[in-house]
Amino acid sequence: MTVSDKTVLITGAGSKRGIGRATAHTLAAAGWNIAILDLDEASAKDAAAEIGEQHGVQAVGIGCDITDEASVDNALAVLGDSVPPVGALVNNAGITSPTPFLDVTGEEWDRIFAVNVRGAFNVTRRVTPGMAERGFGRIVFLSSVSAERGGGVFGGVAYSAAKAAELGFTRALARELGPRGVTVNAVAPGLIDTDITGGALEGERKTQLVAGLPVGRNGNVADVADLITYLCREESGYITGATYDVNGGAHIH
Ligand code: NAD
Repeated sequence: MTVSDKTVLITGAGSKRGIGRATAHTLAAAGWNIAILDLDEASAKDAAAEIGEQHGVQAVGIGCDITDEASVDNALAVLGDSVPPVGALVNNAGITSPTPFLDVTGEEWDRIFAVNVRGAFNVTRRVTPGMAERGFGRIVFLSSVSAERGGGVFGGVAYSAAKAAELGFTRALARELGPRGVTVNAVAPGLIDTDITGGALEGERKTQLVAGLPVGRNGNVADVADLITYLCREESGYITGATYDVNGGAHIH
């Protein structure tokens, strides 16, 4: 198999300025067919149309709430055999919140975990049996520098805890699926210029954060997309259970 015989499933790749859409572009440029699941159906379809047109690969966009198992089942049924088998999964969909721990409610805590952790479980649990059966798979989780350094960028305790859960998920799954030809890795971006904060991280706070970065700038989506695409290569099969920092030096450990 070459990558043109395979599809990469990317969650949350609808967002126009997001990491997921940029990653879908770089993966398509590398020859992968693309399946996008996003809560925002119109954006998922728009991204797929854009990618199909620009890269000449098969690209499908489906509306899906990854927190809802029935919605994921439905999306995968819609995908069906319309594209080649899923050879890679990028667990990209995520939400954040800056709410301080002393103010956070159980409801908000659950919502952060529902998308970042349970959502990733819902999709991963469904695509891994096929990968194991075919003896090939690449899975990449979008964690965060917040998981490693205990917040300090934008997200609060709930976000840091959920993103740290993704690291445990990555490592244990890498151990279990390694013998089946499936690698599982995490990327941990720092401050990347997207719409995830809904514009809430602008002005003085952002200037201060950037001033503290060794590389002197915030990250862009291409910085992260390239790394994810590298981890999805067939040739990257000896890299598993790893966490890759893409943070401009915000956290060096
Ligand atoms: P974004 O807000 O631009 O995109 C997130 C996408 O996820 C959106 O298209 C949204 O519709 C989708 N989504 C949200 N809930 C969903 C659900 N229940 N089901 C399906 N789709 C859903 O975000 P981004 O900045 O591109 O972030 C992508 C990932 O990278 C996230 O996991 C985020 O936590 C992580 N990350 C981002 C940064 C950053 O600075 N931007 C830093 C570290 C980690």
